[in-house]
Amino acid sequence: MKIDVNFIPDEGMVVREGIKSSELELDTEVFRFSGPIRAEAQVSRITNAVTVHLKLEVKAHGICCRCLNDFEADFSKKIDLNYPVEDLSSTIDLNPDIREELILDYPINPLCKADCRGLCAKCGKNLNDAECNCK
Ligand SMILES: [Zn+2]
Ligand SMILES: [Zn+2]
Repeated sequence: MKIDVNFIPDEGMVVREGIKSSELELDTEVFRFSGPIRAEAQVSRITNAVTVHLKLEVKAHGICCRCLNDFEADFSKKIDLNYPVEDLSSTIDLNPDIREELILDYPINPLCKADCRGLCAKCGKNLNDAECNCK
């Protein structure tokens, strides 16, 4: 997502864009975004600074680290960003900041649900489905 400083009207503007997660190089083996990241930016310029209120929404696909099941999750985040402007003809690229913000929330050990019971260490049964007979 790029913003051309020169095109920001006095009253501000809203920019919507779908960003491919592959463009941000965010995907890992156990967690990736499915579909584009829907970004909505409220942009305004105050003399020498540009403020961006950003809303990100995306569907995520993960593999639970406890039960190894696939799961889908909704992922959303609101961010406020500020950029100093020295040159009115400049372009602001939001992608590096979007990437950084998403990485902060990226799960290292994704869980299908917070209280996932995982697999039995003995028989490998998924304990979310049913109890097994192991002692
Ligand atoms: Zn799980
Ligand atoms: Zn068992």
